[in-house]
Amino acid sequence: MAQYKTPVLIIGSGPAGYTAGIYAARAGLKPLIVSGGQIGGQLTLTTDVENYPGFPEPINGGELMELMKQQALNLGVEFVEDKIIEVDFKQHPFSCNSENYNLFTADAIIIATGASARWLGLESEQKYLGFGVSGCATCDGFFYRGKDVAVVGGGNTAAEEALYLTNFAKSVTLIHRRDTLRADKIMQQRVFNNPKIAIEWNCVIEEITGSDSPKSVTGLRLRNIKDDSTKELKIDGIFIAIGHHPNTEIFQNHLELDNNGYIVTQPDSCQTNIAGVFAAGDVKAPEFRQAVIAAGSGCTAALEAERWLNSRHL
Ligand code: FAD
Ligand code: NAP
Repeated sequence: MAQYKTPVLIIGSGPAGYTAGIYAARAGLKPLIVSGGQIGGQLTLTTDVENYPGFPEPINGGELMELMKQQALNLGVEFVEDKIIEVDFKQHPFSCNSENYNLFTADAIIIATGASARWLGLESEQKYLGFGVSGCATCDGFFYRGKDVAVVGGGNTAAEEALYLTNFAKSVTLIHRRDTLRADKIMQQRVFNNPKIAIEWNCVIEEITGSDSPKSVTGLRLRNIKDDSTKELKIDGIFIAIGHHPNTEIFQNHLELDNNGYIVTQPDSCQTNIAGVFAAGDVKAPEFRQAVIAAGSGCTAALEAERWLNSRHL
């Protein structure tokens, strides 16, 4: 067990965490990042990223995150591979315990633990992740120009993803396990009125089929849960839109969370309900789940932390 003491502890190593680290290091705050189990965050789950500014050609998600890490390390950010399992925000300095029995104490904390997409749990889903299976239409829709795609889910996200994909795809099949959508009525109407969208009701995906060379999705095997019949659907891409959950379990009863478990912050700010504790990126109910937005939010959190620390030393 080691003890780490830092002015600014950053929990999470996604775009929000690394950007917070870069800004806090340049402010002379000697930040420390605790990586969590997914070093680099959600972008490491994808292949081509082509909407992060500064990269004229698509860049692999893992590579982009490695570059961010390198930039943070070059500026002097301390990096510890570990996972926080317990926090104490009642006393100052704040303290956090980790999976590896380390104790971290900090004057300010930036939480950047992100959110996790819910997945169907099929082996084929993991096999083709980034090769026809996606969790983000805004990120990957562009790659399906003129192609046939499917979206699974019946909530607002699925409806939004399906509608967005009609801007690129030849056809969009929405697959839902029940016979009514959970999405808001207005979203439902937009889906029903869009001639490019077909709906497979009462269906679950049994298998995502594909080829190995080139590695790509070619279809789905659907099972109708009413009559147990199965059918094959030829598609080039499947977007999983069955919800996300914020990685905030350890902050329950320590910070104010909204009904969906996201950390509540003040408007246009990363300040949580506890002075000196900030939240950045997907962990604070993002309207848009995008890396550049998470990075911007990490920057805000670091600047706010700097201001807050300076105000205490006056
Ligand atoms: P995350 O990236 O989720 O990082 C969270 C970090 O917190 C991880 O490092 C994790 O290990 C750490 N963590 C969690 N719990 C703990 C803990 N208890 N202790 C310590 N650390 C912890 N966006 C785009 O802009 N362009 C794209 O092309 C794009 N493609 C995507 C493709 C996929 C498949 C997915 C899932 C997302 C994609 N996104 C894309 C969205 C983008 O990845 C997210 O918006 C962004 O990563 C959010 O950044 P974040 O730093 O808030 O959190
Ligand atoms: P959600 O509302 O929880 O919907 C998830 C959908 O996925 C549900 O239809 C659910 O089916 C289905 N589903 C869950 N697990 C599944 C599984 N294993 N297999 C197949 N289907 C599965 O999630 P969301 O759509 O991401 O929305 C989350 C929150 O954000 C909601 O409050 C939503 O209103 C909000 N949001 C709002 C907007 C907007 O206002 N523009 C946009 C996006 C999100 P069942 O219906 O059968 O449970």
